[in-house]
Parts: sequence; structure tokens; C-alpha cells
Amino acid sequence: MFSRILFATFVFATISAQASCIHGTSFLRREVSEEGKVKVSNFGYNKENGPANWAQLEAGNTQCATGKNQSPILLDDTIPKATSRPKVVIADVEEAEFENLGTTLEVIANGTTTFEDKDFALKQFHLHTPSEHRINEEYFPVEMHMVHEGADGSIVVLAVPFQLTEDGSTTQLLTSVIENIDNVTTPGTVTKTGKLEFAELTKALETEALFQYTGSLTTPPCAEGLTFLVMEKPLPLDVKTFNSLKSVMKFNSRFVQNELGKPNVLEVASEAAAKVQCAGPGDKTEVKVDMKADHAGPGDKKTEAKVDMKAGDAGPGDKKTEAKVDMKADHAGPGDKKTEAKVDMKADHAGPGDKKTEAKVDMEAGHQRTSTMSASKTEETDSASQKMETEAKGSKSEETKMEENGKEAGSEQHKVMPAGNKMWRRRRSYKQQ
Ligand SMILES: [Zn+2]
Repeated sequence: MFSRILFATFVFATISAQASCIHGTSFLRREVSEEGKVKVSNFGYNKENGPANWAQLEAGNTQCATGKNQSPILLDDTIPKATSRPKVVIADVEEAEFENLGTTLEVIANGTTTFEDKDFALKQFHLHTPSEHRINEEYFPVEMHMVHEGADGSIVVLAVPFQLTEDGSTTQLLTSVIENIDNVTTPGTVTKTGKLEFAELTKALETEALFQYTGSLTTPPCAEGLTFLVMEKPLPLDVKTFNSLKSVMKFNSRFVQNELGKPNVLEVASEAAAKVQCAGPGDKTEVKVDMKADHAGPGDKKTEAKVDMKAGDAGPGDKKTEAKVDMKADHAGPGDKKTEAKVDMKADHAGPGDKKTEAKVDMEAGHQRTSTMSASKTEETDSASQKMETEAKGSKSEETKMEENGKEAGSEQHKVMPAGNKMWRRRRSYKQQ
């Protein structure tokens, strides 16, 4: 379990002045200017400012990329339900402040939730679309976060999913919240809600099943150690209210995080990306191949071949590219009946975008034969094998150059490799110099 003291220290140390899920708590005071505007968040959900890059936006956002107990998560029967019930008290109000923070629409609300014998003050509630948590893998059109703060600085978030209804029934609270939404279509603007009545919401929170886990803010700085209580059953929402909300909020849902305690998904992803880059364009894999000539001629002890593999467009998913090259040189040199070379080329991390793998084979034979083979092939799956059979008349002091430059798939000499382990073989001629 997390230490509340440590959490408080951490939050103070890392939170900077930006709007987030804990906007309005003692850690992050609301900033309302004289013109009635609120400060807009510097993070977002698009491109460079999106969840994958939050950690890079500010020094204090490290947890977004490294935290191991990040929210939101997938909620299913592996996540326990709250064993104690919260008591939620929120007084109805004629109106409340309604803000467009650029990253969410937020209502400043006051109330008290008592949970596990401790009081938490409601500071605000805000909305996400689509839902951040998924319940049994299902996402919902809207998720409400009711942000509470304890006297010791600990944070409890009550989260409520909303589901669209076919009969038009809805939760009146949300319809009243957005009564003046036309006044806050621009980030940073503030208006008033309609009359807010909380009975339907508070009753549901006190009676429906609640998932309980210790996670993080779903927005920067992604600080961990806060308690999430997520209602399993969604409240109803009519299409008109939903569309109105969505048109202003756009998209503000962080992607689902790893299982609690597991490495941050961004760390997992960056490791995967690093591996893929190993086999990226321009990447060379060098393989040294020893060729043993059966029945080698006089002085022909060993033939060494160096193979350079270039993975043109390696992509994620392609685990392995295997090329098998069998070369048989009949009558290679005096006494040389056969020269067999087996070349296994394994390119780890080759990808589905791997249109072409180029293999250049330089063979320097003990009997001074140099062969250069350039073979193009197209592979999209693992373990494709290529078998090339070469007839070579080799002799001592003979330099041989074999060249294949066919890069156009489909040409007779440079067929596209079929997926899987099928091999193609053909005889080829080569120039002798
Ligand atoms: Zn939130």
C-alpha cells in the first residue's frame, strides 16, 4: 500500500501549474484570471502533446512513462470490488462553475465522500470521452471523474461510466451541466451550469458495485498512489447530450495502461521499438559462414564466406528471416568433387514491412575463388528459406564472380519468395571472369 506521506511529498515535488485530473486540489490550484478564463493545459491528446509524449512535456511528468501503477486500466474480475461503501454527500446547487480546460470540461463542485472511515472533500468533477477505463474490455461513451482530496492530501477519484440509451432516457445531471456549453466551446473559457441535482448519481455510487484499486492520475503528471473507485454499471446518457459534450471535448482519453505492478507500457513499447530499429533500413547484419569443401583439392582446406544482410524495410512483427543457401560446386578444383556451402541468415526483428532482404555473399575460397552473390527476395514471414544451387566449375587460382541483381519481384530469375518454409530452387548461370 502506498504511503500517504510519500505520495504528498511526491505530488508537491512534481506537479507544476497545469490543468489535470487533480485540478482544483491543494496540489493544483485553479487559475482563473480576471477575465474569467482558466489556464489551459499544456498537454493534450493529439500528436506531439498526446499521452505517448506526456513525460517529455515537463520534467515532473516522468511517471507517465515509467510508473508501474498507472491509470486507466482494464477492469475485470481480476480487480477487486470495494468492500466498504462510500457515503457521498453533494448538495444540490442552482448553478456551478463550468470550465473548458482544453483537455476536459470541468464542474467546480463541493461535497464530502466518506470512505473507509475517512472524509474526502469533493473538489471538482470532469468528463472524458470515450471512457478511460474499460469494463470487461468494453469502453463507454463518457466517464466522469469526481476528484476528492483528504485532509492529508490523499486523493480519491470516484469514476462513473455513462452508456447511451436507445429510448432517450438520460442522467439529468449531465444535461444540466452542459446547459450553457455553447459559451465554453473555446479552451480557457468559463460559464455556469444549469441547476444540478445529485441524488441519482450519489445513490448509484452508494449502491452499485465499485472496482477499487490504487492507480494514478490519468493526466500529467501521472502521479501514483491515488484510490480509484470505478462504478461497474454505467448510468444512462441520451445521444443529444453526448454529441454536445463530444463536439466540445473532442477526444480526451488516455490509452489503457499495463497491469498494475507491470512495467509501464511506454517502456515496453520503447524496448520493442529499439529492437525493431536494430533491423531497420541501413542496418547490417554480418554473418560469417564457414564453408567446408568436401573432397577439397590440394590446399583447399576451407572456404570462408562473409555474408552481409541488409534488411530494407524492417517492421514490427517480423521476428526472423531465414535464408538458406546451398551451393554446390561440382568439380571444384582438382580433386574437388563438391563444394557445399550452407548459409543460415537470421535477421531478428525483421518486420511485416520487410519488402526486401538483400543478401550479399562474398566468398573467398581457399582456392582463391571469389563469388559475389546479390540476391533479392521478398519475405513477410518467419523462417523463409532460400535455396540456391549453384553449379560451379572451380579450380585453383580462379576468380569467379556470380552476380544476381534482379530486384523486380516476379521476374523469372528473381521470384518473390512465398511465405512460410517453401523453398524455391533454380539453377543459375553466372559470369566467370
Ligand atoms: Zn480525469
